[in-house]
Amino acid sequence: MSGLVKGEKVYRGIPVSAGVCRGKILVLHQTRHVIAKQHLSGDEVESEVKRFEQSLVRTRQQISEVQRRVAETMSSAEADIFDAHLLMIEDHVLIDEVLKIIRDQKTNAEYAFHTASEKYVAVLEAVEDEYLRERAADLRDLTGRVLDNLLEVKDQFDLRHLTEPCILVGHDLSPSMTAQLDKKMVLGFATDIGGKTSHTAIMARSLDIPAIVGLKTISDDLESGDYALLDGYNGTITINPTDNTLFEYGQLEKNKASLDEKLREIVWQPAVTLDGKAIHLSANIEDQYDVEAVLQYGAEGVGLFRTEFLFINREKLPGEEDQFQAYRQVAAALKPQQVIIRTLDLGGDKFASHLQLSKEVNPFLGWRAIRFCLAQPELFCAQLRAILRASAEGNVKMMYPMISGLDEWNQATALLEKCKAELRAENIPFDEHLEVGAMIEIPSAALIADSLAKRVKFFSIGSNDLIQYTLAADRTNEKVSHLYEPTHPAILRLIKTTVDAAHRAGIWAGVCGEIAGDPVLVPLLLGLGVDELSCAPAVIPEVKYMIRRVKMDEAQALAEFALQSESPTEIFARCQQFAWQTAPSLFETK
Ligand code: PEP
Ligand code: MG
Repeated sequence: MSGLVKGEKVYRGIPVSAGVCRGKILVLHQTRHVIAKQHLSGDEVESEVKRFEQSLVRTRQQISEVQRRVAETMSSAEADIFDAHLLMIEDHVLIDEVLKIIRDQKTNAEYAFHTASEKYVAVLEAVEDEYLRERAADLRDLTGRVLDNLLEVKDQFDLRHLTEPCILVGHDLSPSMTAQLDKKMVLGFATDIGGKTSHTAIMARSLDIPAIVGLKTISDDLESGDYALLDGYNGTITINPTDNTLFEYGQLEKNKASLDEKLREIVWQPAVTLDGKAIHLSANIEDQYDVEAVLQYGAEGVGLFRTEFLFINREKLPGEEDQFQAYRQVAAALKPQQVIIRTLDLGGDKFASHLQLSKEVNPFLGWRAIRFCLAQPELFCAQLRAILRASAEGNVKMMYPMISGLDEWNQATALLEKCKAELRAENIPFDEHLEVGAMIEIPSAALIADSLAKRVKFFSIGSNDLIQYTLAADRTNEKVSHLYEPTHPAILRLIKTTVDAAHRAGIWAGVCGEIAGDPVLVPLLLGLGVDELSCAPAVIPEVKYMIRRVKMDEAQALAEFALQSESPTEIFARCQQFAWQTAPSLFETK
């Protein structure tokens, strides 16, 4: 046994890309650039400026080259990540600041660039928004490249020419380095820092390489040559795994492979119960690039397009035209399948920095979703017009989030009619019969579902919020997570009330919160009469697998039991037992 770690040792981090791998570790010890401040004489300053500009040109060429390689080996979405690097390197605020330091302080370009970029990295690292914080890693990546060019240092690690398969371990892995990974040689990777939304994590998923981030000091604790088993499902890396651990993982991998095979077989099969009830099984998406996953996992269109992600994480707010392009792309790609676009649900835990909303004491009970949109008719109408226009290009439906009563529905309808009238006057085509539904995610909406059902074309139950508002348990606060119980009798009664009201009015009711993607709870939802389920694309196959094994009379008996029970734990245990008996293979890999 070699290395610093003796005996089996397990490290836990954040799993960001699924899969299991085992092999020798290669630790990347990044050497920091040594940046000394050098004083220049007055006539050296302009040639230093020139040297800096040449390094930018060289860096731009290198990034374009990496981008080209990524576009060839991955998808254009991953290549787009490097657009952010190109934008940064053309950022005049940053460049002007560097030039000012060189000229005012008569100092070398390395020092000037390092000083300016570190300032921006510090600003980005301090913001609350996780996405923006991750952009600090992009800027560091870029800074490293510029400094390499100024100092004439060769690429620190040329990961394109590894000679034997390994698991990479490092403090961080920059997107540029990730882009160079050779899938045949890199079995997986683990880093000290990083989050789920870092570009490195996004690329690992796209490359299908198991990966864990946030392991804190792993790059110091391990040595190249250590043998490890990396579990990208659960976020663990085991050093010197014992025979027993290897055997257990071997079993797990076998089960997983056999389940994957079963799931692949049903990708193109319908989501129909054993006794013939068809369930509409669709996907939740966050932008137009998710369409690929919708198709790959065999979803029937989109049941929830969370449009607020077009507003968050963007350099500037999207206008009507940008939104139209995004919606149209999804509608056209999935035609004739339906695409349900949800209007903006900003607020709560989702903010767009450009809107500079003032802090609220209770954001989840505050200026959120439809409340915010009705108060910002210009912003709302731009979205309504974009959705209407996209409806001419596919099977588009629309729904409003956070409806709490009829007034909001009526006001939104009036604005929609106004937008339709404008489009007619401008001779812009749209679907005159565009169906509009309401999300049921506030208890008051569930309790007046009979009134709403007379006005809407469908209901989509947002269980994530319905649970938090019914049980007064903040969905993002781990201190009250024990109270956040999907199988609480109050939740089940509200779902039942909603579904029954829909059916009495001749419309359908679906569920698009996380419970729709949980195979343990799916039979209960079917038993409660739900017609549609919408969940993350990657879990569609498992949900479908479960649906295809359920008999409706048994699911109804389960729901009847649940509606009479007074205990969330008892209901959950019964659901678990039902799910295990109905589709055991789904649970043998967990
Ligand atoms: C929900 O609340 O269940 C839902 C689907 O909406 P979001 O998670 O976007 O609030
Ligand atoms: Mg919601």
